[in-house]
Amino acid sequence: MENLTIKQAKELLQSGKITAVELTKHYLDRIEKTEPKVDAFLTITKEEALRKAEEIDKKGDFSAPLAGIPIALKDVISTKNIRTTAASKILENYIPPFSAVVWQRLEEAGAILLGKVNTDEFTMGSSCENSAFKPTKNPWDENRVPGGSSGGSAASVVADECVFAIGTDTGGSIRQPANFCGCVGLKPTYGRVPRYGVMSYASSFDTIGPLTKTVEDTAIVMEIIAGHSEKDATTPKKEVPKYSENLQNSLKGKKIGIPKEYFEEKGLDEKIKTQLLETINKFAKEQGAEIKEISLPLTEYAIPTYYILVKSEASTNLARYDGVRFGYKTDDAHDLKEFYEKTREEGFGPEVKRAIMMGTFTLSAGYFDAYYKKAARVRNLIKQNFDKAFEEVDVLFAPVSPFQAFKIGEKKDDPLQMYLADIFTVTVNLAGIPGLAVPTGLIDGLPTGLQILGKQFAEETVLNFGWHLEKMVNFQEKPNL
Ligand code: GLN
Repeated sequence: MENLTIKQAKELLQSGKITAVELTKHYLDRIEKTEPKVDAFLTITKEEALRKAEEIDKKGDFSAPLAGIPIALKDVISTKNIRTTAASKILENYIPPFSAVVWQRLEEAGAILLGKVNTDEFTMGSSCENSAFKPTKNPWDENRVPGGSSGGSAASVVADECVFAIGTDTGGSIRQPANFCGCVGLKPTYGRVPRYGVMSYASSFDTIGPLTKTVEDTAIVMEIIAGHSEKDATTPKKEVPKYSENLQNSLKGKKIGIPKEYFEEKGLDEKIKTQLLETINKFAKEQGAEIKEISLPLTEYAIPTYYILVKSEASTNLARYDGVRFGYKTDDAHDLKEFYEKTREEGFGPEVKRAIMMGTFTLSAGYFDAYYKKAARVRNLIKQNFDKAFEEVDVLFAPVSPFQAFKIGEKKDDPLQMYLADIFTVTVNLAGIPGLAVPTGLIDGLPTGLQILGKQFAEETVLNFGWHLEKMVNFQEKPNL
């Protein structure tokens, strides 16, 4: 039962070789064994998981797409009657009375929830160190971060504590941890997966997507979670392709763009650069695809543009955590104003407070035009850079992160250094396009990978390229846990 993909687990269940209870127990045992080293889970739903597995076994019907498949969810995804914390003290004991649409869809497809996994507080961060509860560790090296904010999702998949996990990506939070831990991760097109019931960071950026062991698994999960929902007005009524059926299409004659500014970036580690360029060249040759250099000239403005916009949106999204409606409340206040202030002072961690202060500043009268409005304009121009690129090529191949997993504590006290980790990922969220992170191998014993970017709603194309790349790379190494 080791390192099962969705497809392998399904085969075992459908053929009766194992029961859903056996599979669930296998993962619960695995969690018990590896958690002391990995620390990915904030809540383990052992009883609920076993109950659901028994129910499925009793029915004996494994036809639903995920019937009996044990999974993990990032702890910003609301799960009815199961604690959902956003890794924040302010929601430490919050039990949602409803489920997010993604979890509803997965549950209806038969998935079994093993538990809720760690993230940076309200998904703000790139290392999982901003969790109010504990840092998660990289399964390859317990002194290193798993990436963030979906670090718990990536670590739990790579440590084989679940078949797959769900994460969220506002500026890289699925792709970067997938890259640091060595699994596949897809940030879908903005609006492809409904976000109702998922705690917001920056509403015009947030997306939800899978972290899986294979590209095929990502395709299977997307078929279940993507598509219009009446509960999220940003999801168009656009048909969801059968992603898993077209993965093997030939790439002959297709065009791969290499964004030159990304590879010229000073911060990009030389070893990563060499490995990626070698991989891309070999890949294009084997597939009969063409490589074209592409320019995305506004890349240098991506980080400031992104951080001005997301922190502005975050400052308004976080206004709802006031101690009255949800979660933590201070017990040491004499009037309402003090009650709000103390609740938020005590309940939020440093990065969240930074977001509230930065965002309140950039949205305030007198500064709005100079910061928010200008950043919104630059965002549009960055999007146009991508539109132009996709007139010339089918996909772009790019690095995910300028470096590999860094040491716990190395960047924690330097927010600007931490923000720079997102240089290759935030552009994708600024433009609202899909990005798929795929491992390309190990360098010095740690995983590295690349991201494949496509036009809006071109998930099918991106997954098609990813499937062939995964096959060529044939990354089989596993961490020793
Ligand atoms: N590190 C980025 C940030 O803090 C991205 C986080 C994310 O994608 N949720 O904004």
